[in-house]
Amino acid sequence: MRSLEQVLADGIRDIPDYPQQGVVFKDITPLLADHTGFGQVVEALAAAGKDDDGNPVVDKVVGIEARGFILAAPVALALGAGFVPVRKKGKLPAATYEESYALEYGEATIEVHQDAFAPGDRVLVIDDVLATGGTVEACLRLIRRCGAEVAGTAVLIELSFLPGRKRLEGEQVSALLTV
Ligand code: AMP
Repeated sequence: MRSLEQVLADGIRDIPDYPQQGVVFKDITPLLADHTGFGQVVEALAAAGKDDDGNPVVDKVVGIEARGFILAAPVALALGAGFVPVRKKGKLPAATYEESYALEYGEATIEVHQDAFAPGDRVLVIDDVLATGGTVEACLRLIRRCGAEVAGTAVLIELSFLPGRKRLEGEQVSALLTV
């Protein structure tokens, strides 16, 4: 079996200047197409939702649209937890809470169904990339507004040259790969 480091090195490629000049996009599609590698990554992300004895300690796993969905759904199944989508504004059909956050240019808004969690649910948040941390920060606000408890956040890749971790100071954040 390859090491997790090797799986990530094999499966994540840099696409320069996408979607705009100066951004190096972390493309995870080769990883998703690698059956054994994808499985190892799901197991590694799921570890953030387990205690020291390896027992699951979360009730729900949140995936942030869109690549977070792909990772969070199998993590939820691995943990025996429910899956909850956090989506861009206007995509969820029932009553929602919304939170907005600043982007480099403009603003983004994400939403969650108001009834997505039971009171006191322990929630693990999953996304592909932690960059400025604005998306995860807004997502944690949404979860707490619903009366649920944030157990932690796990991402595939943390961009350490951006202030994501600092912005999420005091939160439990784990990353499989820090670049
Ligand atoms: P942020 O709110 O700045 O932490 O941005 C996080 C969101 O933007 C995540 O949902 C990522 O999918 C996406 N993202 C930000 N930077 C990158 C990158 N360099 N490559 C791929 N996705 C990115």
